[in-house]
Amino acid sequence: MTSTTYRCSSCFEQTLTRVYDVSHLSIRCPNCGEFARFVHEGVLEQYEALEESPPEEFDWERLDRMEKFVVAEKLVRQGNTLDDFEVEVHDGE
Ligand SMILES: [Zn+2]
Repeated sequence: MTSTTYRCSSCFEQTLTRVYDVSHLSIRCPNCGEFARFVHEGVLEQYEALEESPPEEFDWERLDRMEKFVVAEKLVRQGNTLDDFEVEVHDGE
């Protein structure tokens, strides 16, 4: 059985390995102590790729970190493309 690595979205240092494959785990991080989302490594790679070179037509920087993870997760695991997302504007609420 293959295992999957998940990384803490709070400190980005702690990793956990599980035999099951889900988009993320929510668990208290033994490293930073946060009750954090541990993100599937494939999703994290997508997230980092977008951080490095945000697509011009997509307002990536407008998203907060959790929204970015959700977008990355949908791209990787649900076969979405960036065209599927409407970027919500949070200003002035
Ligand atoms: Zn952590």
